[in-house]
Amino acid sequence: MHVITVIPGDGIGPEVIDSALELLDALDVDLSFDILDHVNAARYRREGCALSDADVARVAASDGLLLGAVGTPELEDTDYVRSVLLRLRGDFDLYANYRPVRLWHDRLSPLRDAARRAIDCVIVRENTEGLYSGVGGNLRASSRMEVAIDADINTWHGVSRIMDFAYQTARREVCLVDKANAVRAGGRLWQQCQRTCAQQHPEISSTHLYVDAAAMNLVTDPSAFDVIVTSNSYGDILSDLAAALAGGIGLAPSASLNPATNFGLYEPVHGSAPDLAGKAVANPLACLLTAALLLRGLGLAAPADATEAAVAGAIAAGRVTPDLGGTLSTREVTSAVLAGLG
Ligand code: ATP
Repeated sequence: MHVITVIPGDGIGPEVIDSALELLDALDVDLSFDILDHVNAARYRREGCALSDADVARVAASDGLLLGAVGTPELEDTDYVRSVLLRLRGDFDLYANYRPVRLWHDRLSPLRDAARRAIDCVIVRENTEGLYSGVGGNLRASSRMEVAIDADINTWHGVSRIMDFAYQTARREVCLVDKANAVRAGGRLWQQCQRTCAQQHPEISSTHLYVDAAAMNLVTDPSAFDVIVTSNSYGDILSDLAAALAGGIGLAPSASLNPATNFGLYEPVHGSAPDLAGKAVANPLACLLTAALLLRGLGLAAPADATEAAVAGAIAAGRVTPDLGGTLSTREVTSAVLAGLG
């Protein structure tokens, strides 16, 4: 029996998590759920803390965490989201952000050239350092002498372990994406770590692209990529671009993993989408594909495969929400996927 903690969160988070729980209940898997439905923006506003030490202890006692979305436009600063997501990433050292992108149906691609549409790659994004480390500040703020610094932190420890993970994940190729011609110190370290991994994995081909060329190639021939390994900030941007090539963020799953402990935080790439909350039109497929990633992470490949096949079936039959050109509600799409589980 695996215990999964669940944080539905804010906005459409609880709606898509309901779909995922319905799916996991329908599958023949031995899971139990510890639902932390009090971890949300309302509690943060009320108590100044959304995720308590006791909540973190419950997560620590589980085998994985499934999260809907955290965020609300009513809280202007980023402290709330950081206090939940960054705390979880930090406490569980979830350094590998794994974002698979796959074109589930030809119709969903915005590209005209059919031969190049078939994107099926993984973006491996470093999740704990880089430009998003929060190191820096403003000197002489709000004056014409202001200096603003956001440091790009790259450590051998952080880069070598994400590179190892990328090579273990790859089927045929690891493409390092950086901007080493302009951001040279970090670029040097990333390239050095890639050379080490390339020697250890001669069966995997090792390539490199500057981030501007990678963005261009993702649009001109996304089918060429297998694994892209990159920093926190470039991974953030490229994974949204890649998701758009596969039908949009309503379909994009992700996992933040610690490959050493095998613990993972599984969440759809999209956020709380406040414009859609309460309207019953949120696409649940990203969250259902996230549940499939969770199953795979627990070593349950057969129900993960069944879920992905059922999602592909629902898309092929046009049983989808408005963001994918359909007319169905969140619940109706969930029922269509459940009916396709076979
Ligand atoms: P947050 O601040 O929590 O990240 P956000 O609205 O800034 O929220 P997203 O939630 O990622 O960012 O969504 C951006 C837009 O994409 C939404 O406003 C919505 O229109 C669309 N979108 C996101 N998720 C879905 C979904 N599951 N189904 C359909 N449309 C979605």
